[in-house]
Amino acid sequence: MTPSLSPIRSHHVAVIGAGAAGLVAARELRREGHSVVVFERQKQVGGTWIYTDHIEPDPLSLDPTRSIVHSSVYGSLRTNLPRECMGYRDFPFILRSGVSESRDPRRFPSHREVLTYLRDFAKEFAIEEMIRFETSVVKVSPAVESDGGDGIGKWRIESTEDEMKIRRDEIYDAVVVCNGHYIEPRVAEIPGISSWPGKEMHSHNYRIPEPFKDQVVVLIGNSASADDISRDIARFAKEVHVACRSNAADTYIKQTGYSNLWMHSMIERVHEDGSVVFQNGKTISVDVIMHCTGYKYHFPFLETSGSVTVDDNRVGPLYKDVFPPAFAPWLSFIGIPWKVVPFPMFELQSKWIAGVLSGRIPLPSKEDMVMEIKTLYSTLEAQGIPKRYTHRMGMTQFEYNDWLASQCGCSRTEEWRKEMYFTTGVRKRTQPETYRDEWDDHHLVSQAHEDFSLYA
Ligand code: FAD
Repeated sequence: MTPSLSPIRSHHVAVIGAGAAGLVAARELRREGHSVVVFERQKQVGGTWIYTDHIEPDPLSLDPTRSIVHSSVYGSLRTNLPRECMGYRDFPFILRSGVSESRDPRRFPSHREVLTYLRDFAKEFAIEEMIRFETSVVKVSPAVESDGGDGIGKWRIESTEDEMKIRRDEIYDAVVVCNGHYIEPRVAEIPGISSWPGKEMHSHNYRIPEPFKDQVVVLIGNSASADDISRDIARFAKEVHVACRSNAADTYIKQTGYSNLWMHSMIERVHEDGSVVFQNGKTISVDVIMHCTGYKYHFPFLETSGSVTVDDNRVGPLYKDVFPPAFAPWLSFIGIPWKVVPFPMFELQSKWIAGVLSGRIPLPSKEDMVMEIKTLYSTLEAQGIPKRYTHRMGMTQFEYNDWLASQCGCSRTEEWRKEMYFTTGVRKRTQPETYRDEWDDHHLVSQAHEDFSLYA
């Protein structure tokens, strides 16, 4: 174990971002007695759930000098998790009494409803008083040797406010990074693309289907976004083709219920005449290629002299996906795992960080943390799991959550939440068109509401 921090000490903590992760981090840190400043470069809370018509000037979002549009949400987006399962554990995502008619009562509501919920959360726990809006963190670096002197690592945070008119340089005891992971796109490598004359874009810049009227569009990817967007666009486009590297090379399937939507294997190459050739041998003339290929972790403000890196989308080294041992507990990350139910996980990670910082919850020694990370990496390698899947959880997320809960002295994940997550996953695969509106897990909904009555 690390030499125990003085019992229950409060620290000056910076949180970067006021999305779903930063909001609950701020709440938990303050609950634990820390003083908290949240830096948020947008004008309001909600992060990626703040829908906007604006898109970035570079449709592929590869230009590092581009002006960033944070949201990746499209107009028709409804959640892919049921609201009971998706909400924070102690602030259920339900319609509260006295709500206005503008609320969306559906189980899988629109993005607007999620933003309203996050605003309600911020209001309920008076989070906004801790937030500096329209303030961008531009640099985070260690101010003194971590663990030097009093055992507290200090961090220098440089930020700009009011369109760079004000520049601040401040020292904090600890930094919690909650900057979101859906703005720095990954794009597929396509042989011949440099001379292909059509338009390329990333799903980050997709909002509405109308501009694709009468066009032939190829989407690359097999994620929730590729599923949703292909169906959205098929209402207007002449043809929609989805290419996916995990499909067998001979895949060529017309989607049931559609006259203009096909699934393919991956693109083999593209040509100067505008054609796209798939591995299944089909060749079509295409107007737009949309990369629905996900995102990269990106911390452009973080300067750690190589102690924390992003390598093939592995953020490392991180103990339990949260603390880099070299700086623990003074630097931490919330929201790194993916293929998870994010909000309740953010809540548990936040409680853990807050408790570790105050000295109430012990961390293993740096050496033990490093050892555990090394073991994890060799296990992944032995199983043939690529680095970029290091933070993918899926089935293991509940074990991870329960571990966090045990550290924090909280109850484990509710059984109904786990089951709801799994049954929704099955429905998504077996009835992709209707899973948001037709279900049979009514008993789980009832169990969830019984639990929610504790928090009403
Ligand atoms: P974000 O919401 O991205 O917030 C990060 C915040 O940090 C932003 O407000 C940003 O402005 C701020 N920030 C970033 N850099 C700086 C800086 N340098 N200085 C100051 N501020 C900064 N999750 C679900 O639970 N259910 C769903 O159905 C679902 N659907 C999704 C659909 C799409 C298309 C996407 C992209 C994501 C979806 N998610 C869904 C996942 C979603 O990302 C999480 O639910 C959650 O909103 C992530 O919260 P976050 O706080 O980590 O990041």
